[in-house]
Formats: sequence, C-alpha cells, structure tokens
Amino acid sequence: MKNNKKIYDVVIIGASVAGLSTATKLIQRGIKPIIFERKSTIGFPVQCAEYIPAAFSLTTKSFIPAIAQNVDGLETHIIGYNGEFHQDYIQQKGHILYRNIWEQILATDILKKGAKLFLSEPIINIKYDNDIVYIETYKRNIFAKIIVGADGPQSLVSMFAGLQSQKIMPAIQWCVPLKKRLDRNYILFHPEIIGGYGWLFPKGDIANLGIGAWGVSNSKLSIIAKYFSEFIYEKKISISGGLIPVYGMRELICRNNFIFVGDSAGLTDPITGAGIANAYESGQLAGDTIADYLNDKINNLDVYTVKMKFLRLCLERSKNKRLDMESKWNNEKGFIENIEGNWIHSR
Ligand SMILES: Cc1cc2nc3c(=O)[nH]c(=O)nc-3n(C[C@H](O)[C@H](O)[C@H](O)COP(=O)(O)OP(=O)(O)OC[C@H]3O[C@@H](n4cnc5c(N)ncnc54)[C@H](O)[C@@H]3O)c2cc1C
Repeated sequence: MKNNKKIYDVVIIGASVAGLSTATKLIQRGIKPIIFERKSTIGFPVQCAEYIPAAFSLTTKSFIPAIAQNVDGLETHIIGYNGEFHQDYIQQKGHILYRNIWEQILATDILKKGAKLFLSEPIINIKYDNDIVYIETYKRNIFAKIIVGADGPQSLVSMFAGLQSQKIMPAIQWCVPLKKRLDRNYILFHPEIIGGYGWLFPKGDIANLGIGAWGVSNSKLSIIAKYFSEFIYEKKISISGGLIPVYGMRELICRNNFIFVGDSAGLTDPITGAGIANAYESGQLAGDTIADYLNDKINNLDVYTVKMKFLRLCLERSKNKRLDMESKWNNEKGFIENIEGNWIHSR
C-alpha cells in the first residue's frame, strides 16, 4: 500500500474544538500534525449555543478573548401536560463565546507553530493497515502513523474503521435579537419537545435560541420563541443546526493507529448535550498519549482509554438519566418530577 511515499506522524480529521485541541497539545510536545477540514472557514458556520462553564478556564485560557458575555446561572422552566409549571434557578457561572473567534485563535496559533491545515478538503477514503493509515481527499492521498478522528458526530474516520454509527439527536437554532440584556441562560422543558429541551442563551444584544429533541422542526422552535417572547424579537438573524450524540462514549475510542476525540467519540453529555469542554479535554489527553507513543514511552494508544475512564463513568451516569427520562416521558402526571429527577438538579 505504501509505494515508498512519505509517512507522516499524525493526521487529524476535523479542525473544530477537538481537532484543534489535539493539534495544540501535539505541537507543545514537538509533533507537527496535518489537519484536513471540510469547511472553507474555521469555526463557520457556528452550530452551537456557545456556552461553557467558568471552570473551563482551569483547562485553558485560550477562549478568554472570545467571550461574548458572562452568565451567572441557569433558569429552568418545566411545563407539564396539563399546564402545571415549575421554575427554578441554579447559580452556575459561565460564558457565552464567539466560538468561531475562539477556534480561529486556536488555529492561528497552531499554524504559526508549524501545523499544516488544509481547508475545504474533506477526507473521502481511509484504509487501515496494521501500522499505517492511508488517507485520501479529492486533492491528495497521504500516509500516516496515526489518524485522529475529530470529525464530529457522523465521523467518517470511525465508519472506515468499521465502527457503528452513533445515535444522534437533531438540533436547530436561530440567532435572534434581544429586547434587553440578560444575565442568565434559560431552559424550557415541554411535553412536545420530546426527549430534549429548548434554550435561550444570551450573547450581548442577541441570543442563541434553540431546540434539541427527537423530531425537531422550526414550528417546535416557534413554541420556544413564543414562550420567551418577553425577551426576544421574533426576527431570525441566522439559522443553524447540528447533531448531538446523546448516548454516551463509544465503546472503542482507540486502537493501533486511530484515536477518537470530541463528538466523534460520543463525548457530549447525554442530558445537557454540552460537549465543548469534553471535546477540548479529550484532545489534550489524546495529544499527550500520541506524543508518548511516538516517543516510545508507551507501547500502544490504549492508555487513552484508561485516561478517559472517569469521563466514561460520568457520561454513563448521564446516559442512564436520559434513558430513565425518555422511558417516563409520556407519564403525564409525573412529567415535572421526571425532569426534575433527571435534569442537572439531580447532580
Ligand atoms: C445546536 C447545538 C448547540 C450546542 N450547544 C452547546 C453548548 O452551548 N455548549 C456545549 O458545550 N456544547 C454544545 N453543543 C455541542 C458541541 O457543539 C459539540 O460537542 C462540539 O462541537 C464538539 O466538537 P468536535 O470538535 O468534537 O466536533 P465538531 O464541532 O462537530 O467538529 C467536527 C469538525 O470536523 C469536520 N469534518 C466532518 N467530517 C469531515 C470530513 N469528512 N473531512 C474533513 N473534516 C470533516 C467538520 O466540518 C467540523 O469542523 C451544541 C451542539 C449543537 C448541535
């Protein structure tokens, strides 16, 4: 398969949070990766509500110049089948980002330090050999010792490795103007928003208004818009969407010559759908593991599986809550108790 071609150390597929974090760590460890990204611009379009908890600054401070606004907490509203209502507030400091700006900061840094990034270049084929990976795009084919799957929830890297596809929840989001500035995030649970919730996350004068649930549609997002009409103008500045893996970490996250990070490994929280912090942290751990392996400090990449064990347990716990919540969704009388018992109140 090799034809005497150059063999690169590491090729990363996907230049979003997980891929850029992996590249950042590899560069710190003296390894210059090659990255393929199918989008033409880093970070655009933004397919995210852009919230991160304040504690994320313990992991990295790179996002700080990209903070759009701070939030003090989370206000959750639950409407029952018969119009019953529950509301509560959890103090939880965090930030809403200009995520595209943060990703551009990360990309600029790794490019300055020697990484190679090919934009508008989706991978279309991968062949795995025991110790070598063959990677093909429309423009070139190359060989690498290790491939990193940072290509999101519908990972082609995992598909070519023969792994099962993940069960993913659809989400749509509108960017809307705010009538007044807000200091907190809002969540709405409603029986018609099946298995998920709606959100309103303020971002200065605008907000990310979205819905992630089974069977999302613009008309269901309109329910959220109507509910929060006291805060927002019903004018869509932009529309986006995406997919969220909501059943926890893949069983297999690495083997001889591949390793998965972020959404391609299924690292979003099954209840909240939050995945930015896990994507970044998995990239750091993967980068370190790869560097140790290439520097002959460890014999294989399995150490990554061990490093991810605690996160696996956390996601497993959250997945069990999702399963419990979904199994009781149609229980009309117990709707509020169901959500309260499984949403982040219960942590
Ligand atoms: C609507 C929505 C709102 C969300 N809100 C939040 C939030 O507020 N807070 C939070 O923590 N999480 C949120 N999430 C989850 C969060 O966005 C993800 O967990 C996070 O983006 C995962 O990062 P990633 O780098 O693993 O994957 P992605 O961000 O999905 O990036 C994958 C990258 O790979 C590229 N790619 C894919 N296929 C190929 C290919 N064949 N070749 C080359 N490149 C490829 C893509 O273009 C993309 O750039 C939200 C998700 C959605 C859908």
